[in-house]
Amino acid sequence: MQLKLKVLIFGSVLTLVALIAIQGYLIYNSYELKKKTITIDARNAIAKLYNTPEIDSIFWTYRNDFKANLTKYEKDEISQTTLLNRLQEKAKAINPSFMEVYSKGLEEYANNIDVEFKKIVTSITVTDSLGTTDVLYTLEENDTILIAGMNFSSEEGLLINNSTWQDNHIVPHANGESEQVDLNFKSSIYMSISNWNTLIIKELAGLMIISTLLFLFVVGLLYYSIQNLIKQKKVADIKTDFINNITHELKTPLSTLSLATKTLTNEYANDNKEMADEAINIVNRQNIRLQKLIDQVLQSSLGYKSIVLTTEEFNTTLFLNETLDDFLLSVEQGIEVKRNIDSTGMLMIADKFYLSTAIINILNNAVKYGGTVLTVTYKVGKNNSSHLISIADNGIGISEKYQKAIFEKFYRVSEQDTHNYKGLGLGLYYTSQIIKAHNGSISVESREGHGTTFTISIPLAR
Ligand code: ADP
Repeated sequence: MQLKLKVLIFGSVLTLVALIAIQGYLIYNSYELKKKTITIDARNAIAKLYNTPEIDSIFWTYRNDFKANLTKYEKDEISQTTLLNRLQEKAKAINPSFMEVYSKGLEEYANNIDVEFKKIVTSITVTDSLGTTDVLYTLEENDTILIAGMNFSSEEGLLINNSTWQDNHIVPHANGESEQVDLNFKSSIYMSISNWNTLIIKELAGLMIISTLLFLFVVGLLYYSIQNLIKQKKVADIKTDFINNITHELKTPLSTLSLATKTLTNEYANDNKEMADEAINIVNRQNIRLQKLIDQVLQSSLGYKSIVLTTEEFNTTLFLNETLDDFLLSVEQGIEVKRNIDSTGMLMIADKFYLSTAIINILNNAVKYGGTVLTVTYKVGKNNSSHLISIADNGIGISEKYQKAIFEKFYRVSEQDTHNYKGLGLGLYYTSQIIKAHNGSISVESREGHGTTFTISIPLAR
């Protein structure tokens, strides 16, 4: 692949990655923004339903109860543990009425946000008139006291408010004296949203779908463009190769022709009939060669649909033997053709001229690409459905990765030494078009360095 193309692909992939990153960042930002909006909405809903006289009166029940118990504690009538236990029990008792008001408020204000609420005690201290502070409770040292709401873990929730209830009251002692005690009751409010995902997915689904579709569209477009570019590059390469090949093919006959013409115009040759005849023979041979080359190029423009067949019924065994005899006349000595031809004499309906051209193309290739022993096999395929003609050689072979492409127009295997094996890459294309025109098929099997077998299958006459 050309460096330019590689740079293009690399650039496109990089741009895509950048696009994904930007899109990801934008979606993440929208997600965070949405989360913030939902949090604010939830907080507002809680604020609205919390600051109502109903909730206030519920909370005053536990406060009054606690104050009464605190006085008992100050008077040593109950222990600190009992005081805290009673607080917890009272809170438990008022929680159902709190939850009722809370649920109603949520329905009204929370806009489908499932928000849980909890109010827990964080510390309780009392300070007497002498300034001595008695720590009755700290969250760190004691069990959690839930005043209202649901008991989710604080890590899951979000702290939304800390509040302090301060109260000073006079505690009468047994000795008749009384003392002012300052109460410092601190609590925290947490909320936890349980349906985050549903809410956010609902909000962002449209955005995600559109951006995914857009992304897929861009990937598709890019893939299509790169595919196209590679295809165009391949076509351009094939054209260049073809021009190089045909120029190369034309050079030899032309230079031979110019030599022969020189001989003919040579005064000496005028008196030398033998030399003149030889030169004329050369002109004739090169003329035929040029004609063949041009025919090959012209034929190659024919797709199988434009090949007009003149079919006849003939004996396949005879036809193949004749074709091989003709072929042997045209090749140099040293080429052995083994005939493994079924002698049943099955009939075939085909165009003899085109079919023999196809077979001779394969035979010529077998010799051209190093074959010295060719084996031609003919038999009728399984189920009596087709004639199978295979031509095997012991030549240079074709590596597996090129085997599919050799039937393409102008295709030549680039790994083979193209200067030693001259050609235009048209023979197998034309052969395959002829076979296709007969509703048949052609396939190749080959091992590099060991040889190649082409098999033609033509439907049996019915
Ligand atoms: P060419 O004019 O190059 O021979 P063809 O279309 O006949 O064109 O063949 C296409 C390519 O397939 C050839 O260039 C050659 O690389 C490969 N090929 C065809 N026949 C054989 C064979 N018998 N052995 C090895 N390679 C072959």
